[in-house]
Amino acid sequence: MPELPEVETVARGVDARVRGERIEHVWLGEKPEPLKSPAALIEATLTGKRIARVHRVGKTIVVDLDATDSEHHAETSNHHTKTTQKDPKSLPKNAKKPVKPACAQWLIHLGMTGRLLVCDSAVPVPPHTHAIVRLNSGRELRFVDARRFGRLSVVAEEGGFTGGGREPLTISPEDFVALFRGRRTSIKAALLNQTLLHGVGNIYADESLFRAGIRPRRQAARLSRDELRRLHFALQAVLRSAIKQGGSSVSDYVDSDGVRGFFQLEHRVYMRTGQPCLVCGTTIRRVVVGGRGTHYCPTCQR
Ligand SMILES: [Zn+2]
Repeated sequence: MPELPEVETVARGVDARVRGERIEHVWLGEKPEPLKSPAALIEATLTGKRIARVHRVGKTIVVDLDATDSEHHAETSNHHTKTTQKDPKSLPKNAKKPVKPACAQWLIHLGMTGRLLVCDSAVPVPPHTHAIVRLNSGRELRFVDARRFGRLSVVAEEGGFTGGGREPLTISPEDFVALFRGRRTSIKAALLNQTLLHGVGNIYADESLFRAGIRPRRQAARLSRDELRRLHFALQAVLRSAIKQGGSSVSDYVDSDGVRGFFQLEHRVYMRTGQPCLVCGTTIRRVVVGGRGTHYCPTCQR
């Protein structure tokens, strides 16, 4: 399942490829599961909009849409723009659409197996494609998801989609410490609680607890300020390093329809049950914390 670094990398890769493009046409598949907003609403919200930016909020990919209908209309009626319009019949449709609020956003959650592909429209459409968004460059942004845990929706909230929890990459050490004050659950469960921090999943919780030297079952409220500051540092370092490594393989993810592994973070404890700790040689243990398989070194973590 894609975690924060993978989602961040996909969002950056898609942003680099489609920012500034106008959405000319939206096709949605017949499977109901991926659509969290009504199909007609998604279509109406996206069509004719310009993609202002693609970014990540928690584990959600957010496409900011500019309400450029009127601008676009003026543009096309005054002069022909740099983009060669081969399909003039789509223009009057755009011109008569009501202008939507500027804060309209398209939200994409990749779920377990969801992928966003940017490709030429001539590329054959792979099975399990649930959305095809045609762009003015002639390329397409496609949402492909075999297991259908991914979700597509649109929002037009004041201030935009904020997710709920705090952003782990930018939260300050002070705010991070305050977040866990009085939390009587295990620190592992607290890290995974998306209403506290959004986007931290099992791999990065285990890896950051290892680097901070903290046992996953310890009660969050009983951690010292110093330990929490160490955890803050470790979590951000692990996430940044994963994003850095993911960045180099982003083209595999968004440009092709292969199912290659996304990136390889050097895991120190995650899924290394029974193997020696890379620091001290002690056998890595697996326990279940809050229903999740949890990996730790009994010597390095206290
Ligand atoms: Zn160890």
